[in-house]
Amino acid sequence: MIVELISVGTELLMGNIINTNAAYLSQKCAGLGLSLYTQTVVGDNEKRLRTALECALERSDIVILTGGLGPTKDDLTKEVVASTLEKQLICDARTKERIVSYFDGREDRQVITENNWKQADVIEGARILDNDNGTAPGFIVETEDDKHVILMPGPPNEMNPMFDKYVVPYLLNLTSQVLYSEMVKVCGIGESRAETMILDLIEKQSNPTIAPYAKTSEVHFRITASGTSLEEAKKLVKPVVRELRERFGDSIYTTNEQETLEEKVVSMLLERNMTITTAESLTGGLLAGKLVNVPGASAVFDEGLITYSNRAKQKQLHVSKETLKTYGAVSEQTAYEMAKGALEVTQSDVSIAVTGLAGPDGGTDEKPIGLVYIGCCVDGNVTVEKYNFKGNRQKIRDNTVIMALDLVRR
Ligand code: ATP
Ligand code: MG
Repeated sequence: MIVELISVGTELLMGNIINTNAAYLSQKCAGLGLSLYTQTVVGDNEKRLRTALECALERSDIVILTGGLGPTKDDLTKEVVASTLEKQLICDARTKERIVSYFDGREDRQVITENNWKQADVIEGARILDNDNGTAPGFIVETEDDKHVILMPGPPNEMNPMFDKYVVPYLLNLTSQVLYSEMVKVCGIGESRAETMILDLIEKQSNPTIAPYAKTSEVHFRITASGTSLEEAKKLVKPVVRELRERFGDSIYTTNEQETLEEKVVSMLLERNMTITTAESLTGGLLAGKLVNVPGASAVFDEGLITYSNRAKQKQLHVSKETLKTYGAVSEQTAYEMAKGALEVTQSDVSIAVTGLAGPDGGTDEKPIGLVYIGCCVDGNVTVEKYNFKGNRQKIRDNTVIMALDLVRR
């Protein structure tokens, strides 16, 4: 089945708000195994919305519209859908009641203004989707020629739960399918390289689908299959996951949907009964913060040293003055001594040290911005890795944290 999205709102066209609804829905549809080929953004304009809807109904089976369901004059999605499908708008008593109780339940006790009643008007014959987080309900309208038009409010905090609670089961039922998906999380391989490594699989995908999501220094692949039973769907997913395991090997840190990289590191250290110390220059505590975010980190996290200046590196980590003078703070030698020194000072089992140039100032041909050294010391053995990260200061620091965690994991 082919799905199409129409995002309604002049603010979207003007760039005043980012179309996160489209991102959310595209990802969800991919996960549901639905083909989504076209997205449209259209302003709060009756004529143009009608044209967009007519086009969508020509080429797609399911049309999802978000935005423009509110109480104000410029909200006209419901009106345009009703008139395009030649349906009436009728006042719905239950929806009216829900609006009253929504306002009653609000602490700020906003008064109901006349235009709010507009939201109690529903499209004749439509299925009404209750809005648990606002007043405007959503709708599913089925047309005579078997098209499905789905309307949801614009605010993401209203739209997302409505989609998950009502629309997902509807779509699954529509396709008489059961879905099964698994996640493969890869670290340290850029998105384009990771995709290239499985291009043949991506190109021939249909069921299961492989959907990549790029994150800082990570790529997550969701492998989703649909089938007439859970067993059947699972059987389709498993071999693909196995294939990805073979191709990415050690770069996969988890296949657990919920697990983050820092959680993986903490659980690994817990299993091995090891403690860790961080020694950070350019990240200034970000790495320690990531680890401490994990509940239960206290069992493994020993000490977080922020050694930003050369003086601090010497005083707290015993990096030699000679090393700093000869090779500089951003060097393999300094990362080595930072990692080694951190273990000596704290007696932890593992240390991880980072030093680098986050910019925007500094940087030379020899040592460009983004140059980062990460040292990891276990049992007195130090491994140092060199990276050349791209991007701004924040991005370089974020990438450093991820790759440092990844080095500990490996
Ligand atoms: P309301 O009752 O709030 O008016 P609505 O259904 O009429 O809801 P809009 O008026 O189109 O929706 O948008 C209301 C707000 O919802 C926008 O100001 C914006 O913050 C958010 N919003 C709308 N569409 C999107 C979108 N596609 N992506 C992200 N946010 C959106
Ligand atoms: Mg509105």
